[in-house]
Amino acid sequence: MHRIVVLGAGYTGMMATVSLAARTKRRDDVRITLVNAAERFTERLRLHQTASGQRTVDLRVPDVLEGTGVEFVCGWVTAVDAEARTVRVDDERVLEYDTLVYALGAVTDTAAVPGAEDHAHTLDSTHDAELLAARLTGGTVAVCGSGLTGVESATEIAERHPDLDVVLIGRDEPGAALGPKAKAHLDAAFERLGVRVRSGVEVVKVLPDSVEFADGTGEAADVVLWTSGVRAAPLAAAAGLEVDERGRVVTDSSLRSVTRPEVYAVGDAAAVRQPFGVLHGTCQSGMPTAVHAATSIVRELEGKRPRAFRFGYYSKAVSLGRHDGLIQYTRPDGTPRRFALTGKGAAWYKEVVNSGVLRVFGILKAVPSAGAVWPRGGRYTR
Ligand SMILES: Cc1cc2nc3c(=O)[nH]c(=O)nc-3n(C[C@H](O)[C@H](O)[C@H](O)COP(=O)(O)OP(=O)(O)OC[C@H]3O[C@@H](n4cnc5c(N)ncnc54)[C@H](O)[C@@H]3O)c2cc1C
Repeated sequence: MHRIVVLGAGYTGMMATVSLAARTKRRDDVRITLVNAAERFTERLRLHQTASGQRTVDLRVPDVLEGTGVEFVCGWVTAVDAEARTVRVDDERVLEYDTLVYALGAVTDTAAVPGAEDHAHTLDSTHDAELLAARLTGGTVAVCGSGLTGVESATEIAERHPDLDVVLIGRDEPGAALGPKAKAHLDAAFERLGVRVRSGVEVVKVLPDSVEFADGTGEAADVVLWTSGVRAAPLAAAAGLEVDERGRVVTDSSLRSVTRPEVYAVGDAAAVRQPFGVLHGTCQSGMPTAVHAATSIVRELEGKRPRAFRFGYYSKAVSLGRHDGLIQYTRPDGTPRRFALTGKGAAWYKEVVNSGVLRVFGILKAVPSAGAVWPRGGRYTR
């Protein structure tokens, strides 16, 4: 019996599990176990919607796994022993594996700035997002981090709560990596929604009622949302796996840990290098890593060598509230192409993609080979 344990039932852990189950369903010598902190699937792509007070779909991991034969373990992974090939869950249960898929994602790096851990909200779980939603009762909301999560959060909150004063704060100009058309659309959306932008500032401290900048100035805030930077769980490093400066598992070209080839790392928890650099945490790149890992594990079970993973970005899809958005088409390395879609059409496109991601789990269960088209969604860079 070959025991495959998948850690994390986020987008990539689910994708890897469902792909593996579909591809091994005719074999009786493979057992797959999926471990996750909660039964409910966290729709991370929509946590800014949850944070603004909207309800999202209540998808249960066991329901998705129904009929696949996968064992689901609901619990918190506390340790991986890479030598003994075991995983400890909630400090009691010990799961043995022959192949491990490490898909525990990453969380916002609140340790980077004093006070952020204590006084800022994050979008790391549904619970975190609901806590923030409950605080949106009036005054100023400071969204720290001018990346796309900050942009989506600020616009979503401003649209849903027009009475709030929303300020987006960051070192870089929001949308700096967009082309001119998309950037102009973004600036107009901020204007329309009343989102104030403070760029070119570095937050050095978060206080209960304000944020402080490196230049000595600051911004009063009733609520602070921190979206800047990510770090992966310390579990991989503690297991002796080589990790990068963010704690992500460093992989070889086939997505196996460079330290332990029986450990595959995918999604936000993996530092996957491509010719243009290390992939940053997105579903767009994470889902293909999951399908690739599943395919590679099956190849290894069949005595074949895993293939190298190749990926290139194709767009940046950004929601600007529920009725507006922008899709910036990109080159494989993520730099903008000339073409961008903006407005209602872009909002619709983004919505179709977000809900489509969940439908893919069901499609893969029925048509295992469907996963093969996923990695090719990105433009290959070879
Ligand atoms: C507001 C927001 C909007 C986003 N929008 C986009 C977008 O438009 N497009 C895009 O491509 N990307 C987007 N992203 C990024 C995207 O959500 C992530 O890249 C994606 O979720 C990564 O998937 P993952 O499976 O690696 O990790 P996750 O989805 O984070 O899943 C990790 C899973 O592991 C579980 N887990 C973690 N630690 C443990 C433990 N110790 N024990 C047990 N279980 C554990 C978690 O509970 C979770 O279920 C967005 C992110 C945010 C926050």
